[in-house]
Amino acid sequence: MKNQALEHFVLTLIILFTIYSLAIIGILYIHFNVVKPLLKLNVRAKSMGEDDVSSPAYQEVCEIKALQSSLDKLEEHIDENRILSDELKKLTEIDALTGVLNRRGFELQREKLLATVSADTPVWLVLIDIDHFKRINDTWGHPAGDKVLASLGDTLNHVALPNWMVARIGGEEFAVMFSSDSQQDVLNSVRRLQMACRNLRVMTDNGEVIRLTASFGVAKGLPADQDRMMSDADQALYQSKKTGRDKITGIGDAESH
Ligand code: GH3
Ligand code: MG
Ligand code: MG
Repeated sequence: MKNQALEHFVLTLIILFTIYSLAIIGILYIHFNVVKPLLKLNVRAKSMGEDDVSSPAYQEVCEIKALQSSLDKLEEHIDENRILSDELKKLTEIDALTGVLNRRGFELQREKLLATVSADTPVWLVLIDIDHFKRINDTWGHPAGDKVLASLGDTLNHVALPNWMVARIGGEEFAVMFSSDSQQDVLNSVRRLQMACRNLRVMTDNGEVIRLTASFGVAKGLPADQDRMMSDADQALYQSKKTGRDKITGIGDAESH
């Protein structure tokens, strides 16, 4: 009985010793393989923020910061160049004398406008040609003629609604294009353009006042009809010239004086 108790006591001691040894081995394993590397990393991370200029970590941080600032500057330059090239591109589409679109701009913007409307949307083209412009040049000189063109460009831009395109497509010929479902609205708009031409007064350098009228050719079509619309508007304009100038032709049977 006594021997049995002793055996039991020794066995318990052995088991406790084994458990204790395993626990110590586990703790040492975690300490060397997990905690120590983490502490090392922590010390390194802290040293990155300190000004220990000689440490390799500090040098690396400096290099990374310099690289980041170069990249930021490069990005700024790329943005500036993109804005500049967009502005230059726009300038190539604008007529320098009048500030409205030039022929190239008209063709490019027309494509954009037509791409935004459905295939069955009615589109209107209005050609505007100054009457007897040669006489203006002959009477007041070419620079005064230029001033008239610039003033008319301003006036058309002023009368145009925001979604209209206004362009100078030839010497003294302008084009206006827009989409509209209402023929009456279009007729009213073209009459406004005509009145704006009639009411325009351009002062020459020696104080004389130049007045002008213009002839209008209007054509209606679908986005796919651009070539036909251009020739229809041209013929309508020719008709306005032939029948006395200062007229609107091509908008239904609403020819106006
Ligand atoms: P119509 O009523 O038949 O249109 O007669 P018009 O005199 O307006 O037309 P014509 O085609 O006989 O003359 C156009 C004139 O426009 C001739 C040209 O010297 C002048 N012109 C063209 N471009 C410019 C320009 O940029 N500035 C100036 N000042 N004149 C220009
Ligand atoms: Mg003319
Ligand atoms: Mg002309």
